[in-house]
Amino acid sequence: MINQIKGLHHVTSMAASASTNNRFFTDTLGLRRVKKTVNFDAPDVYHLYYGDEIGTPGSVMTYFPFPHIARGRPGSGEVGTTVFSVPQGSLGYWTDRLTKAGADGLKADEAFGEKRLQFAGPDGDGFALVEVKDDDRAQWTGNGVGADEAIRGFHSASLRLRDDGANAELLKFMGYEQVDARDGVTRFGMPGGNGADFIDVETMPNISGARLGAGSVHHLAFAVENREKQLEVRKALMDTGYQVTPVIDRDYFWAIYFRTPGGVLFEIATNEPGFDRDEDTAHLGEALKLPTQHEHLRSTLEEHLEPLA
Ligand code: ZN
Repeated sequence: MINQIKGLHHVTSMAASASTNNRFFTDTLGLRRVKKTVNFDAPDVYHLYYGDEIGTPGSVMTYFPFPHIARGRPGSGEVGTTVFSVPQGSLGYWTDRLTKAGADGLKADEAFGEKRLQFAGPDGDGFALVEVKDDDRAQWTGNGVGADEAIRGFHSASLRLRDDGANAELLKFMGYEQVDARDGVTRFGMPGGNGADFIDVETMPNISGARLGAGSVHHLAFAVENREKQLEVRKALMDTGYQVTPVIDRDYFWAIYFRTPGGVLFEIATNEPGFDRDEDTAHLGEALKLPTQHEHLRSTLEEHLEPLA
């Protein structure tokens, strides 16, 4: 077992429309856009990052908007629901806000004794808000959602798997502990994590495999403090038999990727250097930022990328 991982770092999903995506996460959910850049591996599309004021690891929802991409087909081997933490007593506010915004799939229930509001993102993405007592992570209130209601960061993400055994072993190896199991869902928690501490494993032996598309999670990233700890995790995973990519520079963090036994793409990302490395905190996410290798494409990209508010 390793002890370098401290919870989630970011969740990256696919979308069909950049402007719809941007409106939903900023205007409706009240997150801050902390970075407007491009997909480093496919620079003709955006990579948009939303989170708290500075994009603290554990708060960062990111999107690759591919214009006109077909919707994904939900199934096994993918992330099911991405869950944000909100203050106790705020779900009534969120029900009104999401209803007014026309969000689909609103459903209030409880999971593991916590009040939950499920809803769909613009592309059918599976989301939920969960009321958490005393989540002391800093919130962003710059987009009109007050401090008593604003999202604190991720609470959890769920994995939909046909066979959960090997993935449970992997999560334990990564430092998670099984903390509960109810209604076919096993909850794993990260002791001493950054607040985005839970992974729920949904065992669904009879569903077919997911097909990636708009509304699908592309990968789930876990946080490590720095590059040294990342290299320790990489070595430990490879010693256990996982095929792990080399370390890749993502400008705002360093990344390694590997696929889980159930087919979900996992990333380990560093907390350093962070989203304020190339912009003032006061203006995060406003200008189009390009990595050095794609800077020569700037004029073409500025002409062709859909304008965002
Ligand atoms: Zn990532």
